[in-house]
Amino acid sequence: MPDSRVAIIGGGYSGLAAAYELAKNGLTPIVFEAGRAPGGLAGSVRLGNTHIERYYHHWFTHDDHVLDLVKELGLQRHLVVHETNTSNYHDNQVYRLSSPLDVLRFGPLRLSDRMRLGRMALKGRSVRDYRRLEGKTARKWITEMAGPTVYDVVWRPLFEGKFGPYADEVSAVWFWSKLQTRGRSRSKRQREQLAYLDGGFQRLTDALVGAVISRGGQVRVSCPVSEIRRRHGQWEVVSEGGCESFDQILVTTPTPIAAEIIPDLPEAYRHRTRAIPYLGVTELMLVLNRRLSPTYWLNVNDPGYPFIGVIEHTNFQPPEAYGGRHVVYLTKYRDAGHEAATMDQASLIKTWLSQVQRMFPTFEESWVRHAQVWKDAYAQPVVRAGCESQIPPAETPLPGIWMCSMAQVYPEDRGTNYAIQQGRRTARGVLEAIERPERRPQAVRIACTTPIEQAAGPAEPIPAFRGLSPA
Ligand SMILES: Cc1cc2nc3c(=O)[nH]c(=O)nc-3n(C[C@H](O)[C@H](O)[C@H](O)COP(=O)(O)OP(=O)(O)OC[C@H]3O[C@@H](n4cnc5c(N)ncnc54)[C@H](O)[C@@H]3O)c2cc1C
Repeated sequence: MPDSRVAIIGGGYSGLAAAYELAKNGLTPIVFEAGRAPGGLAGSVRLGNTHIERYYHHWFTHDDHVLDLVKELGLQRHLVVHETNTSNYHDNQVYRLSSPLDVLRFGPLRLSDRMRLGRMALKGRSVRDYRRLEGKTARKWITEMAGPTVYDVVWRPLFEGKFGPYADEVSAVWFWSKLQTRGRSRSKRQREQLAYLDGGFQRLTDALVGAVISRGGQVRVSCPVSEIRRRHGQWEVVSEGGCESFDQILVTTPTPIAAEIIPDLPEAYRHRTRAIPYLGVTELMLVLNRRLSPTYWLNVNDPGYPFIGVIEHTNFQPPEAYGGRHVVYLTKYRDAGHEAATMDQASLIKTWLSQVQRMFPTFEESWVRHAQVWKDAYAQPVVRAGCESQIPPAETPLPGIWMCSMAQVYPEDRGTNYAIQQGRRTARGVLEAIERPERRPQAVRIACTTPIEQAAGPAEPIPAFRGLSPA
């Protein structure tokens, strides 16, 4: 078994967790990552002496797969748990919505609707078997539980902001999983509490990469794979550095990319890789010299704003961790043609900052130390009603080719916890397949591109944030 060659395409958390599981079991997997650093959507940039995620990130206190991994890798001492607060921006006002009492005080709804909203959360969470909700849309389920006004005032703007044209198709199962995950991560005082690593997600990324490399595996960055093809009874991975043959290949890219790079995928399976659409994300990350607001998570229930969330990370992690600076993320999920996807960085910063000023009248542009726009085309799979039967299985019809992506996480929503769960589970499938007697013969190795040199060294530095003026 140790001489079996396994490639992993994609160095996000699915890929890194799979590589770790394989390396722990005596294999020496090679991870091919297109980006300049591992971590994928949970990747980070340097900020002063520490790192910060490109997109807002936290864990729930019951994210057991990630928390177990944190423990296994000896990072437990860096784990922190803090209470956070959530608010909704509605009709030019911020309403706190962190506790049952806040719900009862939520001004935009009549008292009877506030009671319905509160009861809805309890009722929704009491559903144990999500299969009861298969085929139903979130809109229908919420309206049944809490009435149309609650849907229109509280949920419609959030669904439209998050899922755009798909808002009315989103599955009740998606909403159920959100109620479960957010509802269970609570302190005794019924406040939401979230977990994080001191030093950021980068600490976990480094530890995973280190654990793979120290066991003989490789994590290659700036190494996009353009094709996976069958040659002389072997699977070949084609990248800029050349071709290499493998016995087993685990593909963790978004499913549409997987379909593109594996031309041999049979049509029925290929169809499933496209059945679950993805939305992209555009995020403006601001580093400020002072606090913007007291809220950690602000839902923007007003379609007049170009972003649907204002997440002030330093109302969760203290600003001292970032040399006294304050970090705020403004987020918009969108499709490829949306102006948030097509607008250039300078115009987007200018437009969005003017909207920040409208929302927080005391805000001044002079507070901004750095501003950076991040965009990703595959950020959020759209879980539509009845989609479970369309999810492609991890084991593809091509022997030796495995698929493990965000779009296959179900019934939960995407998240690093599930990326880790799925990555490790699929790796165990690969291990089992290798142990079968009919495994393929040893393959030829041809070297290619940039390996990460240091076992547990920092991620490849990403150039400092560009300032407010266009770079
Ligand atoms: C705005 C935002 C906020 C989020 N917040 C949270 C949060 O608070 N908590 C949480 O747990 N999760 C959060 N998530 C979700 C989390 O980031 C993802 O679920 C997780 O990172 C997915 O990991 P993955 O490895 O499956 O996919 P990805 O991270 O997408 O990794 C896939 C990798 O494949 C690489 N790749 C693509 N094509 C090729 C190719 N041809 N060759 C080689 N490599 C290729 C990509 O570069 C990428 O690194 C958030 C995501 C977003 C977008």
